[in-house]
Amino acid sequence: MEVLKYPNRLASTFKRLRAGTRGVLLCDYDGTLAPFREDPSEARPYTWVPGILGDIAAWGTRVLIVSGRAADDLLKLLHLEAIEIWGSHGRERIQPNGTRWVWKPNAETEHLLDRIENELRRLAPGKRLERKVGCLAIHWRGLSQTDAEWLQKTVDELRARFDKHGVLMVKAFHMGVELQAPGPNKGSVVSTILDEEKGADIAVCYMGDDQTDEDAFQELGERGLNVLVSPTPRLTFADVRLETGDEVRLFLEQWRDAVRGGCDHDE
Ligand SMILES: [Mg+2]
Repeated sequence: MEVLKYPNRLASTFKRLRAGTRGVLLCDYDGTLAPFREDPSEARPYTWVPGILGDIAAWGTRVLIVSGRAADDLLKLLHLEAIEIWGSHGRERIQPNGTRWVWKPNAETEHLLDRIENELRRLAPGKRLERKVGCLAIHWRGLSQTDAEWLQKTVDELRARFDKHGVLMVKAFHMGVELQAPGPNKGSVVSTILDEEKGADIAVCYMGDDQTDEDAFQELGERGLNVLVSPTPRLTFADVRLETGDEVRLFLEQWRDAVRGGCDHDE
């Protein structure tokens, strides 16, 4: 674990949880709660995730998963009750009671994404494309270097041809790129949740490994604890860096033990 700034924030978060303050824990999925896989549909969570997150939720913390994946995709991978899911980078939401919300993208931008998707399917059949709410992800995991470079170049050419006004945002991720219509992001999830919790005494933490998680770190800022999961140091808005895997498990175990202590304290 590496403390990057505000050395007391980590300790004070756990202290508040132990004293009975309600926790709000927002976690990214891939690379945070699940190891990377060549085939993303096989990215199951670490074996310890359902148990620890389930306990954390049972002891009163509001647990949310915030991911770039489609929300239904996450439901299939994570069989957990009492957990709220935000998919497609905050563009769709499934609440623990099953209530769904989906952001409505602008029709013109959707049409632009349709054209790029159709052209890519024609030029690159068999390559992995993932259409989500207001975004198109193009994956090159598992491709040869030549194929991956060709695909990247083709995406750039199609953007130049169809998106003449540069409306789409381009977000690189591990072994791929995503074209996004301007709209909600992981930072807007944080602001929505903070609004919903307005006035409540809460201890909030956001944990993630992606570039897109930086929007959430920035939005949460000093109002909570920002945890970057990364095997190597990088430029970040986070307060603390955890190594992938075991350090995440230890952190979540600490959270569980703190909220369990907090509940004992209440009694
Ligand atoms: Mg991730």
